[in-house]
Amino acid sequence: MNEWIAREAEVVAQTYGRCPVVFVKGEGTTLTDDAGKIYTDFLAGIAVCNLGHAHPKVAEALAEQAKILCHVSNLFYTRPQVELAEWLTERCFADRVFLCNSGAEANEAAIKLARKYFHDKGESRHRILSMARSFHGRTMATLSATGQDKVKEGFTPLLPGFEYVAFNDMAALEEAMDETVCAVLVEPIQGEGGVCVPDDGYLEAVRALCDRSGALLIFDEIQTGMGRTGKLFAYQHTSVTPDIMTLAKALGNGLPIGAMLATDKVMASFSKGAHGSTFGGTPLVSAAALAVVRAFDEEKVVEKAADTGAYFKASLEALKAKHALAKDVRGQGLLLGLEIDGDGATVVEKALAKGQVINAVQGKTLRFVPPLIITRPEIDTLMGVLDEIFTDMGAA
Ligand SMILES: *Cc1c(COP(=O)(O)O)cnc(C)c1O
Repeated sequence: MNEWIAREAEVVAQTYGRCPVVFVKGEGTTLTDDAGKIYTDFLAGIAVCNLGHAHPKVAEALAEQAKILCHVSNLFYTRPQVELAEWLTERCFADRVFLCNSGAEANEAAIKLARKYFHDKGESRHRILSMARSFHGRTMATLSATGQDKVKEGFTPLLPGFEYVAFNDMAALEEAMDETVCAVLVEPIQGEGGVCVPDDGYLEAVRALCDRSGALLIFDEIQTGMGRTGKLFAYQHTSVTPDIMTLAKALGNGLPIGAMLATDKVMASFSKGAHGSTFGGTPLVSAAALAVVRAFDEEKVVEKAADTGAYFKASLEALKAKHALAKDVRGQGLLLGLEIDGDGATVVEKALAKGQVINAVQGKTLRFVPPLIITRPEIDTLMGVLDEIFTDMGAA
């Protein structure tokens, strides 16, 4: 057995079901393991490394900032945090940003803000409605908001005031809605839930219902944001905006950062002392994220995601037409899923052996979330590999 895998088994908490590969290097769309084998990365650290691995400008910004100032606490002002917040608010509905260190923390902040907003208005609204099969994180509040039983097992009692309705089911949402609901929390495309796309008009109808009942609308764009779906933020495919939006994953291209963004009106409830984070928006990580977002502008990666994503989706459709075990192609931009009639983990393992890093969610949906700089020839190679695997599986 690989020495590092054996050593990990002795000392690291065994919370992850890992593939038996030790990666030592990444560059662009490729990864290299400790035996020197090269892989094409269609996972990007789970929709994180949208610019590809070891982006030179991000590496340089990080190294430079590390030599100047890593951290001083939020008791003081620092420049990269301000510049990053300016970049983000210039490009979306939000007026203000709260920076933190992960997706779960961003959603924690969103949940706290929604409750505080109504508290400040003197209204007793505290219920949060989210979706079945949603994923919002692993902390107690975000787990409480997550609509999947398997991740909650053993951790009850969870927080009160969270309820779930089926995604894409307006009647169920209307039924659950009343004047005690403070917010509806929804992913514009469910990622971990199996790459589930909203029906046309669904997000607009959710917005209209929130407006009618006075509840806030929170979009969890932790996976869908930062160009992943072919727009900078997935909600920009629709005609509506949320009151609060959360980001994390690709914002730092691999550096730990999260952001909770909101309108002025709502963010006013995060007054002095209402919330905080030691590391949130630290100069080091903010400088890296600033280099990330500037590279987004310079390299037109969002446009690439839209264009390559359409090609990728058409390729998956062609594969589906050829194999009976390929059941459904879903997704937008470079957040794509292929549901199969078979075990996803088996396909992931076989693809890995052939140098292709993919992943499966909900057991039978293969998920493709490559760096946004993935190329058509790389997609063609993956299709060839999946074609071989499906042919073998179909014959077996
Ligand atoms: C990954 C993810 C989270 C959790 O982010 P962490 O950084 O792992 O805490 C929350 N919501 C969505 C939609 C995600 O994809």
